[in-house]
Amino acid sequence: MTPERIDFLALLSDPDMLQLMLVACPDGIVTTDANGRVTLYSGASEAIFGFDPIQVLDRHFSMLFVDGPERALLDQQLLERGRVVDVEIPGRHQDGSQFFAAVSAAVIRDRYGDVAGIVMYIRDHTAVRQIEDALRNRNTQLNHLVAKLDHMARHDQLTLLLNRGSAVEAAEDALLASGLEGMNLGVALLDLDHFKMVNDSYGHLVGDLVLARVGAVLQKATREGDIIGRFGGEEFVAFLPGADLDAVTRFAERVRTELENALIPVTEDISVTMTVSAGVAAIPSCADSLSEALRIADDRLYAAKRAGRNRVVHSDKNQRRSAA
Ligand code: GH3
Ligand code: MG
Ligand code: MG
Repeated sequence: MTPERIDFLALLSDPDMLQLMLVACPDGIVTTDANGRVTLYSGASEAIFGFDPIQVLDRHFSMLFVDGPERALLDQQLLERGRVVDVEIPGRHQDGSQFFAAVSAAVIRDRYGDVAGIVMYIRDHTAVRQIEDALRNRNTQLNHLVAKLDHMARHDQLTLLLNRGSAVEAAEDALLASGLEGMNLGVALLDLDHFKMVNDSYGHLVGDLVLARVGAVLQKATREGDIIGRFGGEEFVAFLPGADLDAVTRFAERVRTELENALIPVTEDISVTMTVSAGVAAIPSCADSLSEALRIADDRLYAAKRAGRNRVVHSDKNQRRSAA
């Protein structure tokens, strides 16, 4: 048995069937005459806008929308292209409140090509808008959270400086960014002297406080582009792009004297002073790579400790001369 073929043209010319299609369509359907006066206002339109047909029919369709740039855009696109698809326009409810209407519309022309009216399909877009807004807000929150987690993963929470891995990575990046030309990069390793005594005398919490203060002193001594990190325990690292051995030595010396002269309050009436020993090296004058420069700076740091602490060592020979 062959299925019966449906004659759509016959259906469309049947007024009852057209009526049924209008009722069944979930989008609001509004048609106008050539002057924009409403000639058809479907049941779904009534549900969306809240106006009774009697309030709308024969009135200009603009009463259904809020005047504004979106409405102007609808008029302009209809004029230029003859149709618009899913343009979002603020719609007007019968009670005066506004909602987001998604409007698709086309200009109807008669057989001579003259404008005979407009047909519009309208959907209440409010729920979609709310979901979009909620998603956008959630996305912004997620981006903030990811940025915060990224920051936490790259920084030491006690001193707020970069952690060791991130500081080295940033220095590698700075070297790479300088390209084949290469550039000076000063490297300083700084280790607090007898820090264990602070912990032993005042407790770990005070030790933490002192570390945070030392971090702040270091941060203050840097210029934009310098990379400062907590290398571990009571040891810090500074990478200074553009600095040669002289410049990084001067930097470490500045930090050393700054710290030597700083009074760090540990209780209401007690302050301590800390000293620091440092070993410095530079690329390319001492080493070709970051790991080599770090190894040399580390050797020099231990030379500074051996030589009596509270000093900066910048060479492997004549340590006595370079000591403070
Ligand atoms: P030196 O002059 O030889 O460097 O002596 P020092 O006491 O500074 O070095 P040592 O390696 O003997 O001791 C370092 C101490 O730093 C031991 C460790 O408990 C303490 N330390 C490491 N990390 C932290 C921290 O995050 N907080 C606190 N309060 N102490 C820490
Ligand atoms: Mg130490
Ligand atoms: Mg140490």
